[in-house]
Amino acid sequence: MVIKMQEEILPYKCSCNGTLKKSHTQVEFYGIDFGVKECEVCTKCGSEFLSDKTLEEIEREVKKKGLFGLEKQAHITKSGNSLVVRIPQR
Ligand SMILES: [Zn+2]
Repeated sequence: MVIKMQEEILPYKCSCNGTLKKSHTQVEFYGIDFGVKECEVCTKCGSEFLSDKTLEEIEREVKKKGLFGLEKQAHITKSGNSLVVRIPQR
């Protein structure tokens, strides 16, 4: 499968103040394969953020499977080979 890489720079910044650009990543979360989804990659710290749309898709899947409740504002980032959910402290 060929994944076309997009080099679209996003108008907002990463939390580290790095530049975010659009990309794609294989999403695997809690052992569930969600396939290749659109994500935002920081060119500075390398964090991958899933878009709200993708998070909604995953949330729907997760709810359908009745696995767990996912915070809407949570960011799922990739750390090494595992995905980490980051919930903003507010
Ligand atoms: Zn960053």
